[in-house]
Amino acid sequence: MHGSAHGPDLLTPLGSASSDSPAPAAGQDSVRVSVLVETPQHSGLLGPLDYLATQAWPPGTLVRVPLGRRVVTGLVWAAAADATLADAQLKPIVEVLADLPALPEPWLKLIRFAAGYYQRSLGEMAMMVLPPELRQVDATQWARRLKRMNKALGLEEAERAKQPPVEVPWPEPTPEQTQVLAEVNARWLALGTAAATPPSVSLLWGSTGSGKTEVYLRLAREALARGQQVLIMVPEINLTPQLEARVAERFADRHVVSLHSGLTPAQRLRHWTMAHLGQADIVLGTRLAVFTPLPRLGLIVVDEEHDPSYKQQDGARYSARDLAVYRGHQEGAAVILGSATPSLETWHNALPVAEGGAGRYQRLLMPSRVGQGHMPKVRLFDLSQQAKPGPGQEAPALAKPLLEAIAERIERGEQSLVLLNRRGYAPVLHCSDCGWKSGCPHCSAWRVFHKVDRTLRCHHCGFTERVPRACPDCGNQDIAPVGRGTERLEEQLAEALPGARVGRIDADVTKHKGALEEKLASVHAGEVDVLVGTQMVAKGHDFRRITLVAAANPDAALFASDFRAAERQFALLLQAAGRAGRDAGVAGHSEMWVQTWHPAHPLYQALSRYDFESFARQQLQEREQAGLPPYAHLAMLRAEAKTQAAAQAFLDQAAQAVEAHAAQLGGILLYPPVPTAVQKVANVERAQMLIEAEMRPALLRLLQAATQPWLALAQKNRPNGLIRWAVDVDPLSI
Ligand SMILES: [Zn+2]
Ligand SMILES: [Zn+2]
Repeated sequence: MHGSAHGPDLLTPLGSASSDSPAPAAGQDSVRVSVLVETPQHSGLLGPLDYLATQAWPPGTLVRVPLGRRVVTGLVWAAAADATLADAQLKPIVEVLADLPALPEPWLKLIRFAAGYYQRSLGEMAMMVLPPELRQVDATQWARRLKRMNKALGLEEAERAKQPPVEVPWPEPTPEQTQVLAEVNARWLALGTAAATPPSVSLLWGSTGSGKTEVYLRLAREALARGQQVLIMVPEINLTPQLEARVAERFADRHVVSLHSGLTPAQRLRHWTMAHLGQADIVLGTRLAVFTPLPRLGLIVVDEEHDPSYKQQDGARYSARDLAVYRGHQEGAAVILGSATPSLETWHNALPVAEGGAGRYQRLLMPSRVGQGHMPKVRLFDLSQQAKPGPGQEAPALAKPLLEAIAERIERGEQSLVLLNRRGYAPVLHCSDCGWKSGCPHCSAWRVFHKVDRTLRCHHCGFTERVPRACPDCGNQDIAPVGRGTERLEEQLAEALPGARVGRIDADVTKHKGALEEKLASVHAGEVDVLVGTQMVAKGHDFRRITLVAAANPDAALFASDFRAAERQFALLLQAAGRAGRDAGVAGHSEMWVQTWHPAHPLYQALSRYDFESFARQQLQEREQAGLPPYAHLAMLRAEAKTQAAAQAFLDQAAQAVEAHAAQLGGILLYPPVPTAVQKVANVERAQMLIEAEMRPALLRLLQAATQPWLALAQKNRPNGLIRWAVDVDPLSI
């Protein structure tokens, strides 16, 4: 990997001395170190660059080095160096951020693993995960910042000493929680004792409302008592304040910090530094927190481990959940993956071998809801039973019996939640005279009608225009919305339920900071009778007075081409169902309505019994027959170009370049390139090529061997219109 990228036009300005800078004097700057700097994969520079230093700084030290005409932050990667360059060709390090302890060895290993696994350059990976502010400061600025941070921490501690925090009582654990804690502890105690430590990964499979968080908190307490640090990850930024408040209350005498993209750069730097220096006891964060250096890491919790947000969707497409498992193994930390609907990969890993699984993870069960709460009764409403709408008429958003059930709730002062996973007023406008539809001129997609500001908006490229008064093609004044989004559903429910207070939560109404919190607060305060929302509302929010949840139009996922669509839909519906009946007083009559044309579909049948196991069994069978994960390993090569032909030509050549190697490795299938589901976005054509492998090591070997040839092919294809390309290992959708 090292200094490996002697690309034709790349290396000259980087790292090596230009002719006008004098060579270092003898005895000074005479030690070679290799340093990672931020270099994207596509620069072709995959490994570290060599510099001269006055001493052999340990790997993990942050330094400032010349790169071209700039001075940038770099990370000492190794003391060894590339012998092909003479000392005189190397530039000296400018300065060292000596006040910052070197990043620990396990952290460096994590970077190496992530870069190798997800096919990115080491420099990109390492720099991407450091706080942005840290990458900008020089040594003097850093020293000043560190002093200020330590002073703030000192003040905080002095304040605490003066006024000791109030200890809150811990609730008695339920018998299920007690059992689970004992099982984890048994494994935990074994950690590090045996010569060969098994990775201690546990799947905590607990229904929504079963008190998984309570288990996390108790395990955290035990880790802290042992002098360890704890990392707790949640899928979404919106869920961090809620959890942070709870954790801070329980651990009032500890330092709890958060790490997510919603922090100011200064906050992020401070929290990261506290973690790295061992000052922070608990780190809460979203996927980027998985890269936090934690010298005393003892426990990693990944809550809602099935959530797609754990996978980064651009740049380095890493899975924070999978990296957490790797980290736990490397650093001897226990890993707890929590979910009511685990991803099928995790489920397969936790399923005992006797039941056809891999038996890699410990499986912990918490099937009951805490308190008297019950999961709502599921009612599959068969839409074919409904009276057909007259010619030219549209079927109502919600069937009559469902509307009546909602009206009953309103009368009793209870709340209902209606889920529709499509925002906007209508997905498309249509002219019935000439057939015109509101397509996006820049994408192969319809523009969505947003009535609130009378715009047509493309949800792919953002292109927005006022709604035309008449059909742009034939002048017909009567252009009508087709289909239904949350905005329209809200309007129609307000009409159908006179006097009801209908609210809406989706990405459109929560764009501004604080808007979501405000909306949620009004639901909690009982100011909303019927809440319309997208999947945003299904996640984690603790609504106490909702006794009816309805899925307005969930059928599309049953027939989606994406093999994970069913898994995601089951998780979403179950999570949504979990929003109802959380209070003992109302739990008895809470209901989940599903409007469907296919009530006999196995997904709905399993849902109606809350039978994740049988759903998972059926899905895993299908995956095994189709050769899909977890029974096969996938990588997607994606290309974007000015024309579809150019995108596919690059992919074709990329396939040819590795064909022989793939055949030699065996068990690898290269699929023909195809356009992506939305083929054109913002005038850029997109195509992809799927690579499927029976064995993961073979897949990774192939990809590693492919890096250089593909980089060269990309250069060659650029004049033909290739814009970008990327490898996505373990893609979420295909
Ligand atoms: Zn028309
Ligand atoms: Zn568009």
